[in-house]
Amino acid sequence: MIIAGKVTPEDLPRICPLVSRKTNGRYGTDLTRVVEVRGVRFGAERPVVIAGPCAVESREQTLETARAVKHSGADMLRGGAYKPRTSPHDFQGLGLEGLKILREASEETGLPVVTEVMDVRLVEQVAQYADMIQVGSRNMQNYPLLVEVGRLGKPVLLKRGMAASLCEWLGAAEYIANEGNLEIVLCERGIKSHSSNEYSRYSLDLNVIPAVKAETFLPVIVDPSHATGVATMVEPAARAAVEFGSHGLIIEVASDRLDAVKPKCDAAQAITPRTLRRIIHFVEARQLEIDERQAVA
Ligand code: PEP
Ligand code: MN
Repeated sequence: MIIAGKVTPEDLPRICPLVSRKTNGRYGTDLTRVVEVRGVRFGAERPVVIAGPCAVESREQTLETARAVKHSGADMLRGGAYKPRTSPHDFQGLGLEGLKILREASEETGLPVVTEVMDVRLVEQVAQYADMIQVGSRNMQNYPLLVEVGRLGKPVLLKRGMAASLCEWLGAAEYIANEGNLEIVLCERGIKSHSSNEYSRYSLDLNVIPAVKAETFLPVIVDPSHATGVATMVEPAARAAVEFGSHGLIIEVASDRLDAVKPKCDAAQAITPRTLRRIIHFVEARQLEIDERQAVA
């Protein structure tokens, strides 16, 4: 039986010749293309840790969280100025004001910042303030948006659609690459499954990491926050992701001060700066061990 539109990994050289290992021979069978964001290198020496609030909710909250994640050892800052929310009645983000706050937090801490763009009309505005542009799960197949983001030439964090196959995800990356921009980092953030929303928000598909690495040279990171939706699961999920070969992590963090304002967005999955510190310690210690083992061999 022939099924219209069916694609399998064998079709990747045709669907995405620019990002497929099989057709773009520069990276051989196991090299990763290093993507650099203001000195932070994805796919290089060690896993990169991006951390920050889910949403930019106020200047105080963002600056406090940015300072805390910097202190915990994060490499980059995250935070949404434009938020994709299930209900139009929920907080939608501070928009341009949020972008300005992120820029200020980035300048003060020295951490490069990644933030999401959802609207093709706002790509240039977001790019003015961000060091890396995030395309969120819900927009992974918004092809006009991928084209515009590709044209910018800035590094892109391309999250996996929550129901996207590996082929669809790499096809989306190809839209960006097709505009001459190979500065792409992929991000697994959990997929919909029969158990979604029963004991966790999504199902973290760690098995996709070695598959991504086999099919493409683009770096791949993991978002244990949205994948689990449960703060206590974030640390073990982050550690597991690194064991699976993830080139980095993107994690939501909120203040642990007793009098801090509770986040409007994704509060249940936010970890404390102290837990972030422990995760970063784990990543660093593990890498040191690998480096030492390699030096002896
Ligand atoms: C986010 O990272 O802020 C976000 C909304 O994630 P996702 O697109 O993966 O749901
Ligand atoms: Mn969130």
